[in-house]
Amino acid sequence: MANSNGDFEIPKTCKAGVVMNEGPDFKVVVEDVPVPEPGDRFSLLTPPGPNDVLIKLNATGICYSDIHYMLNDLPIPKMSAFGVRSPGHEGAGVIVKLGSNVKNWKVGDRAGIKPAYDACFNCELCWSAKETYCDESTQIGLQFPGSYQQYVLSPARYTQSIPDGVDDFTAGPIMCSGSTIYCSLKESGLKPGDWAVFPGAGGGVGHMGVQLAKAMGMRVVGVDGGFEKKALCMKLGCEAFVDFTKVEDVAAEVVKICDGKGAHGVFVTATNASAYAAAPMMTRISGKVMCVGLPPTGTAIAGADPLLFVGKNLHVIGTKVGSLLDTQKALEFAARGLLKPIYEVYPLAKMPEAVAKLQSGQVAGRLVVDFNS
Ligand SMILES: [Zn+2]
Ligand SMILES: [Zn+2]
Repeated sequence: MANSNGDFEIPKTCKAGVVMNEGPDFKVVVEDVPVPEPGDRFSLLTPPGPNDVLIKLNATGICYSDIHYMLNDLPIPKMSAFGVRSPGHEGAGVIVKLGSNVKNWKVGDRAGIKPAYDACFNCELCWSAKETYCDESTQIGLQFPGSYQQYVLSPARYTQSIPDGVDDFTAGPIMCSGSTIYCSLKESGLKPGDWAVFPGAGGGVGHMGVQLAKAMGMRVVGVDGGFEKKALCMKLGCEAFVDFTKVEDVAAEVVKICDGKGAHGVFVTATNASAYAAAPMMTRISGKVMCVGLPPTGTAIAGADPLLFVGKNLHVIGTKVGSLLDTQKALEFAARGLLKPIYEVYPLAKMPEAVAKLQSGQVAGRLVVDFNS
């Protein structure tokens, strides 16, 4: 709560979802942890402390990447190697304290946490809004305490502003999934009127891709399984839906829908190997396979005959999480009412249940934790 001076009373401790027993049998527990001070964060990039803001989060989305980090099933160092216990990178809240050098924010400003935490801002990638690929790019929720902790530090120069008209529960999932698929759509170079196909259209990333592609004027085809996913996809702007539980040759059906020639772009948000195997068959000449979803390590993407790639002038393009600019653009679509993540809210005490539910694969859309309930 803000007091009469507009300052926030900052407690000494706050609640945080922390990982116990990191690895295949991990669990999340909610406990009290110290509230960090601007000055606590050590970084080789920004001098620690004076350049950080302290954000009090109202909401955090739960992302499958968090589960990867807690399971420690990716070929990267584990959270504990960085002294981090709280994952999370989809936070939204308000700035409650400024480091002494910070001039571009004020206490009370709304701000968010996205996966990319900082970068060097002194290289070609950083200068061209590709800072997520910078050699010195860092990730929150892995290398720094993440948004499962209510009070988190963020470098002032790379903190995301949340526009009016986008509430914290909407902003959270856009920080990761929304900006990620925005980035992929932008890099695809697809134009209004082009066919955009989304394998995994009813999932956490896919359902936002459908809305953004529709808003950008593309003709959208959803590929997913079941009546509920179909109803959701058609409501969100798909012109056609292909149900892989009913249609035998999904790629042939997609080609048929897309003028009998195939899609201009296939955005693979699904995380299974078969979605990647089918995507090149769905495109037309000079079509693009956009790689977004991460199947288990060991999946081959160029498993098709090279003749297919040569004969179709096929483009295969991978994109990472969104940049600061991508995230800003995705938030603007939300502010205009054109992007509405589908989410279910969990109270803080049930954060461990939310994580377990996502891990079991039973989530349509996104789960968002409310720190104030
Ligand atoms: Zn994520
Ligand atoms: Zn850089």
